[in-house]
Amino acid sequence: MKHQTRKATRHVSQNEGLIFEKSSPGKSAWRLPPLDVPEVDTQKLLGAARRTDLGPMPEVSEIEIIRHFTRLSTWNYAIDLGMYPLGSCTMKYNPRVNEVVSRLDGLANAHPYQPEKISQGALRILKTLSECLVEITGMDAITLQPAAGAHGELTGLLMVRAHLHAKGDPRKKILIPDSAHGTNPATAATAGYAVENLKSNAQGMVDVAALAAQMNEEVAALMLTNPNTLGIFEQEIHKIADLMHAKGGLLYMDGANMNALVGKVRPGDFGVDLMHLNLHKTFSTPHGGGGPGSGPVAVKRFLEPFLPKPVVVSKADGTLGFDYNRPRSVGRVRAFYGNFGMFVRALAYIFANGPDGLRQTTEDAVLNANYVRKGLESAYDLPYPTPSMHEVVFSDKLQAKKGVRTMDIAKRLIDYGFHPYTTAFPLIVPGALMIEPTESEPKEELDLFVEAMRSIAEEVDEDPQMVLAAPYSTRVSRLDEVAAARNPVLRWKPKG
Ligand SMILES: *Cc1c(COP(=O)(O)O)cnc(C)c1O
Repeated sequence: MKHQTRKATRHVSQNEGLIFEKSSPGKSAWRLPPLDVPEVDTQKLLGAARRTDLGPMPEVSEIEIIRHFTRLSTWNYAIDLGMYPLGSCTMKYNPRVNEVVSRLDGLANAHPYQPEKISQGALRILKTLSECLVEITGMDAITLQPAAGAHGELTGLLMVRAHLHAKGDPRKKILIPDSAHGTNPATAATAGYAVENLKSNAQGMVDVAALAAQMNEEVAALMLTNPNTLGIFEQEIHKIADLMHAKGGLLYMDGANMNALVGKVRPGDFGVDLMHLNLHKTFSTPHGGGGPGSGPVAVKRFLEPFLPKPVVVSKADGTLGFDYNRPRSVGRVRAFYGNFGMFVRALAYIFANGPDGLRQTTEDAVLNANYVRKGLESAYDLPYPTPSMHEVVFSDKLQAKKGVRTMDIAKRLIDYGFHPYTTAFPLIVPGALMIEPTESEPKEELDLFVEAMRSIAEEVDEDPQMVLAAPYSTRVSRLDEVAAARNPVLRWKPKG
């Protein structure tokens, strides 16, 4: 077995015993002064709410408990340890200054029921962020309420539906390219539409002739990701928009891949009627593991009346406030106003970068993806040679000849100290390896990644069996991922 190019830091300690097994009577991680007030009778205070089923808790010293939790934290991978090249996820580094700003007392402890008059700072943040995102997308208005990308999609389609109903032209279908993220068809179905698939052409783009043939007065909208999930910019986007509009349909853009466009082009300028952004991807909030999301939806003027309510408005006295009097609104899509902490982070990120910094971010993201593409082109099959934007999608065609598939390569990559790329998506690439390095990565890290991937390709040639049994460096190797999701072990139980 070739040795690793990098040491995986999570394996520094052999001392992996669990905290319950370290327990010994009388040890404690805390010390309090003697009680100088009367003791409370918890039985009386809590009654039936008092837990009696806790059993003995482990007795350990402070250093043991610190090591326990620190060790647990190193059993996982993190962007702070190394590159996280999940495609379609935009796992960029999130500058610490955003965290500092979002924890400022007045922001972190603001209450959504606080009167408007003492919430002016928070309202100003909502308003300013809205203005920045409207400018960046080239749209006219925005809602910050949706709690994730998929939720933004649903909010968007509810607005499409409300708009078409108001025109007396309700429609039945949504067109979705075969390269789309799974949330798009799920959203369309949830909003009550039938989904019709649109085939991609050999360049990995929407087949405009097929779209022209499929577009008719039954179609409410086309949901298009641009750049799409192959990391390819839809070069005929103007034609696509014209085709949709000529027959009374709307163009919805899934903006999850805005990391490739910010500061360069604006969807509002290429015919998009409404779109969502993923603040947790493009605008710097740590995410993953179900962590916080935010999926603002930006719209053209004609859709503004349908935005979720309330909306932030400037009042006659110069202060900001919420307007609930929105008779055509699709209503609330979330409690209160959205994930406020993420708005603070997004605004801090936008202000810290400024227009030039945001543009540079985009250029670096695209440059990094193309650097990786060049480095790996000779080792992995590239199914679509069309230029790449922020991510590149290879296939496992060459390695599959030796019986090694994309998942096996991803598992082996863990031994090299990297988080796996996205496997098996988009579905139109059999055995996809979807790689998005983001702008965060320095050239040295990209070189290590390319070297690791090339080294794995050599291993597949020389010793495919070794690759098939990877990873070797983790606490457990191959898991039954279905069983792990169905029967998760979430509690420690004593042995025997
Ligand atoms: C991430 C993603 C989504 C869904 O966003 P969530 O915030 O996870 O709901 C939709 N479309 C694309 C292309 C994405 O990458």
